[in-house]
Amino acid sequence: MATLDEVARTVLRERYLRQDEAGTVIETPDELFRRVADAVAAAEDDDVEGTADRFYDALSALEFLPNSPTLMNAGTDLHQLAACFVLPIEDSLVSIFETLKRTALIHQSGGGTGFSFSKIRPVGDVVAKTGGVASGPVSFMRIFDVATEQIKQGGRRRGANMGVLDASHPDVRAFVTAKHEADAFRNFNLSVATDAAFWDAVESGEPYDLVNPRTGETVDRVDADAILDLIAELAWATGDPGLLFLDEINTHNPTPALGRIEATNPCGEVPLLPYEACILGSVNLGEMTDGDKIDREKLARTVRLGVRFLDDALDVSTFPVADIERAVSRTRKVGVGVMGFHDMLVDIGVAYDSDEAVAVADEVMQLVSETAWETSRRLAEERGPFPVWSESVFDDPVRNATTTTIAPTGTISMIAGATAGIEPIYNVVYEKQVLGGLEMVNDRFVEIAKARGFYDEDLLTDLKDRTSIQDVDAIPADVKRLFQTAHDVPPERHVAVQAAFQHHVDNAVSKTVNLPSDASVDDVRTVFLAARDQGLKGITVFRSGARPEQVLGDDPLK
Ligand code: ADP
Repeated sequence: MATLDEVARTVLRERYLRQDEAGTVIETPDELFRRVADAVAAAEDDDVEGTADRFYDALSALEFLPNSPTLMNAGTDLHQLAACFVLPIEDSLVSIFETLKRTALIHQSGGGTGFSFSKIRPVGDVVAKTGGVASGPVSFMRIFDVATEQIKQGGRRRGANMGVLDASHPDVRAFVTAKHEADAFRNFNLSVATDAAFWDAVESGEPYDLVNPRTGETVDRVDADAILDLIAELAWATGDPGLLFLDEINTHNPTPALGRIEATNPCGEVPLLPYEACILGSVNLGEMTDGDKIDREKLARTVRLGVRFLDDALDVSTFPVADIERAVSRTRKVGVGVMGFHDMLVDIGVAYDSDEAVAVADEVMQLVSETAWETSRRLAEERGPFPVWSESVFDDPVRNATTTTIAPTGTISMIAGATAGIEPIYNVVYEKQVLGGLEMVNDRFVEIAKARGFYDEDLLTDLKDRTSIQDVDAIPADVKRLFQTAHDVPPERHVAVQAAFQHHVDNAVSKTVNLPSDASVDDVRTVFLAARDQGLKGITVFRSGARPEQVLGDDPLK
């Protein structure tokens, strides 16, 4: 088993290791990896034990980790293993409150939920049954927010949501500004869903129709450009909303016969049909190098294991309601991705902001994607294709409608001691505001500092309050280049890395594009347009000094 650092051990103890009723931890990290490996391998027909051992080896070596609900729940009574869900909301109280109930059950099991609120009639519209006046999607979103606040996931963390509204909904302005007030919608990320009609109107300057979803009538004609400006302004001030590019998402919808995709899970990396769920797992790229080279063979081997693990996990997972069970078993979506991308760049000596980093992203994710699909084809030969395969876009039988996703890996990267997802580092040393404060130290930096003779405790203390090490004289220039922080990397380079990954990812990519505090609203707009031009499925920006991120942020519980 790999050595777990202090942060990993704290996170595991506080959130993952099994506890008895008195709250005493009754499992070691090693036992956790064994529990998860055994529970998931139970789906295998032959060689259950051999497969369990291989799963255990990869998990305990921190080469591959599944999403948090799998680590928490596999082999326990609550056997729900997926992190990502999308639920439908129709324009009726019955539908809204039915979905609210299901949301509560999903949050309780550790999953996150996304919804499109676009079908809900706008503020001021008629309510025939009562002769009253409708209160609109934002007011119903508030109910979901309050409910989420109350449900702590097995006492371990609070739930998270993605709220989506079409740019053409009459209440779009209220939606865009919903998080402006401090502390409003703490448990939501927001995304405005855009399509070709919206972007055409931005470009042509022609009036853009706002349409009442209940009647299909145009209730207003507005300047799409002004809406885009408002979105950029709020994203500048608060980090929300982001954008979804629904056309791009649906161009890549593997099962268009089952419907159009309108929403994603909380962090945006998995666009799903209503009731679908997805189990994610991430390969730790920092473990996929050999000296200063990428170990392609090890990477491919780990991806093969990861796809098999997630396909097994689908079989042994329970789901909170029958509609979800049905939707999941029809398409069998899984998402293998990566974490520790920046660690890998450090190992192979590539700066995050360079063209070479984009080439590495492209090379790595192409290999991941090709290997994942080859594995899914093999699994289809062994176990049959996903049940609605014949209605899908695939010519060859495959076991899963999607195989790849880039998750944020907010917590599992802390267990793996890896940089999160495909993000650049926050700093080489800093205090992370979770679980009462954790000291995050970049091992690679410390190792290099010692080897190159510039290590000293005072230096580390001094670096702690910074968000960049670029102007620290004691650190050699070539080392500084390798440890560029999220603040050092220019926004267009963030977008370029995201795009390189997206081009080989079936689902989507979780990524925050950081902007310096003196960036303008127009800079945000420029990032939005670049994201659209480069074929992204969604985009989220965060300007340094804007309100701290709240959803999935820091220490919601303890
Ligand atoms: P982890 O590292 O815990 O496995 P990620 O940060 O990779 O999770 O997030 C993956 C997905 O898991 C998110 O997009 C969301 O769907 C779900 N998720 C993460 N954190 C939470 C949370 N606190 N509550 C509910 N769902 C969550």
